[in-house]
Amino acid sequence: MIEMKDVSKTYPNGVSALNEVNLSIEQGEFVYVVGPSGAGKSTLVGMMYREEKATGGSISINGVYLNKMKERKIPHLRRDIGVVYQDFKLLPRLTVYENIAFALEVIEETPKNIRRRVMEVLDLVNLKHKARHIPDELSGGEQQRVSIARAIVNHPKTVIADEPTGNLDPETSWEIMRIFEEINARGTTVIMATHSKDIVNTMKKRVIAVENGRIVRDEHRGEYGYEA
Ligand code: ADP
Ligand code: ADP
Repeated sequence: MIEMKDVSKTYPNGVSALNEVNLSIEQGEFVYVVGPSGAGKSTLVGMMYREEKATGGSISINGVYLNKMKERKIPHLRRDIGVVYQDFKLLPRLTVYENIAFALEVIEETPKNIRRRVMEVLDLVNLKHKARHIPDELSGGEQQRVSIARAIVNHPKTVIADEPTGNLDPETSWEIMRIFEEINARGTTVIMATHSKDIVNTMKKRVIAVENGRIVRDEHRGEYGYEA
């Protein structure tokens, strides 16, 4: 479970990005975070994996308080949270296989387990045939599928995605969304900031709308609620 209590964020330059936000997300939920550009969506989801530190209030994930967390504990937190970015953030000189295996090598998994698990997630995103390719040889949608595979290779309880379809065409976006649906169906919490109006309106999931650093709407089976 993720809980935010009176969470605020003021950046060092004085910009107030979030203002006393309260929310609670249960294990296994699928949550869209929507709102205009600059509303605070990235800041909100970034605080859930300690990319951003709150300047007020408290955030806990499965009982662990993130704002009190020591810097050296952050890598440990990240093992339990998969993150997917708009621009993929794959390592350009490593193959698809190596990009995914990397996350397991740092936690000193055995080579046999690494191989088994990497092939398993590559199968889930339908990219076994691209294992030996480098990211530049893949389409945008394929690269995003690799980054999703990397995000889930450690079996995290939570996957956080910040505009994962922002650089993709509508058809490819739908393929990506079906993978997130599959991941969620297996019990993983999915939290996604997005501008994809059609997807949000079709999927009928929980929708949290942020405007000017505040939650202005939080609905189950919600709608996007803005012009695209
Ligand atoms: P969204 O994801 O909804 O577009 P953001 O969370 O990126 O919104 O931004 C919320 C507000 O915080 C905006 O006013 C933005 O300019 C500001 N902001 C975001 N990141 C930083 C930063 N690193 N330093 C200063 N201001 C920032
Ligand atoms: P198969 O035996 O049916 O080819 P594998 O699961 O062994 O299936 O491999 C699928 C793909 O992943 C193949 O292209 C294979 O070359 C590649 N692959 C498997 N292991 C590695 C590895 N350690 N490094 C790079 N590519 C690998």
